[in-house]
Order: sequence, then C-alpha cells, then structure tokens
Amino acid sequence: MKQHKHNISEITVFTDFDGTIVSQDIGNELFIQFGEFQQNYDLLKSGNIHIRDYWAKVCSTLKISENIKSKFNGFDDSFFEYFVEQFDIDPNFITFYNFCIDNSININILSDGFSNYINPIINKIGITDAKIFSNKLCLIDKKIIPFFYGASESCECMCASCKRNTVITEAPPDSLIVYIGDGQSDLCAAEHSDIIFAKNHLSAYLNEKRIPHYNFSNFFDVYRIFSNIINEKKYRIRHQAFLKRKQAFECE
Ligand SMILES: [Zn+2]
Repeated sequence: MKQHKHNISEITVFTDFDGTIVSQDIGNELFIQFGEFQQNYDLLKSGNIHIRDYWAKVCSTLKISENIKSKFNGFDDSFFEYFVEQFDIDPNFITFYNFCIDNSININILSDGFSNYINPIINKIGITDAKIFSNKLCLIDKKIIPFFYGASESCECMCASCKRNTVITEAPPDSLIVYIGDGQSDLCAAEHSDIIFAKNHLSAYLNEKRIPHYNFSNFFDVYRIFSNIINEKKYRIRHQAFLKRKQAFECE
C-alpha cells in the first residue's frame, strides 16, 4: 500500500460522555427514572420515529416524582445536581484529561446527550473549563424542550446532533484527530478520526468495517495507550480518515 505523508500541526481529542466517561447512559436514565422511556425507545429502535422527534416526545413525558417534587422548581439546575449524585465518573478520566492539558493537546467532550447533567458531573470532579459540545434541555413555560446544537441533514448517522460535523469543523485542518467512544452516536465521528479508542457497539462496527482501533474498557486503558503513543510520537494521519474528512467538507 502506498504511504501518504501528512503534516501534523497539533492533536485534537474528542471523547464521548455517556457510556464512555461514565459507565451508564445517563441521558436514558433520566427518562427511565422520570419519564416514559421504554415504549418510546422501542419506537426509536424499530425505526418508526426520527431521533429528534423521539427526544421531543420523551421530553414531554418528564415528571418529577411526587415524593421529591416540593424540593425543586421543575427540572432546574438544582434538580440536575440532585439527579447526578447517583452517578460516578471513571476516576481515570481526570488523569487522562490532565495528561492532555499538560501536553497542549486540545480535549473536547462531545455528546449527543444533554449539558444539563453533563456539566454538573464534570464540575463535580473539579474540571471547570472543559470544552463541551452537547444538546440542551430548556425549560420553557414549564415544558421541557430539547435543543440540538449540531443537527445535520447531510449525514445519515441517525443522531440528534451529528458528531462528525463537530469533529471536522472544530479540529484545525492539519490536526491529528483522536476519538474515544462506545455507541451509535460515535460511528460517523470515529470513521473520520485518525486514532480511535472503542468499546461495545462502536468497536463491533469498526471491526466489521475493518477500521483500525484500540479497544478499551476504562480511561486507564486509554491513558496508558495514548500516553505511550504521544511519548513515542507513534502517530500519523490515517489516510482513509483524511479522505473522508475531505469528502464530508465537499458535501456540506
Ligand atoms: Zn453524523
């Protein structure tokens, strides 16, 4: 195979949140605990409803349980601070995050979930200046309305916000792109990245498409492998990803 050389000006990391930095899908947990999750999720999985309509529908079912209702003024910030108390972040994430900062590597959290629960969890571990791209739930006239930061018509990834678009527009043109994720919303972004860390559904998808990646189970694995790659300077632009990025720009 012909070797292609690309100059690398910097390194940009994107990491998924639900199922990756935290082991659960907190977005789903919110609706399992406070809404009508399963029947709507089944509609989504069977392809009978678009994901953005799914979110609008399931959001309309959100209700704070009677026993805690008096404590909150609807689904406000104090509610989300209370809600996230039950979840723990991967303790190795902070080690990985600090490694990136110390090595001038740009790190971004990229989620198809909602900032309402992501921000308080990230703040809880002492990170206050993280770059986070995510959807948002807004309380308007006592109704919960989802807003999608990156809805895309040109990608067929079936996500509320397309992570591919954020990856290709936020990373500088000569940047090496590193992607870490686990699920459906990570497929299109991972395919456009140079170094991929994957687990679960994402890993199976990449195997099927024969796209090289590192498997991981937690951020200690990611930190160990990634710090080695950086320290040994064992990285290069993946030519297939480079071509896909170019192609994506051409059809936007
Ligand atoms: Zn996409």
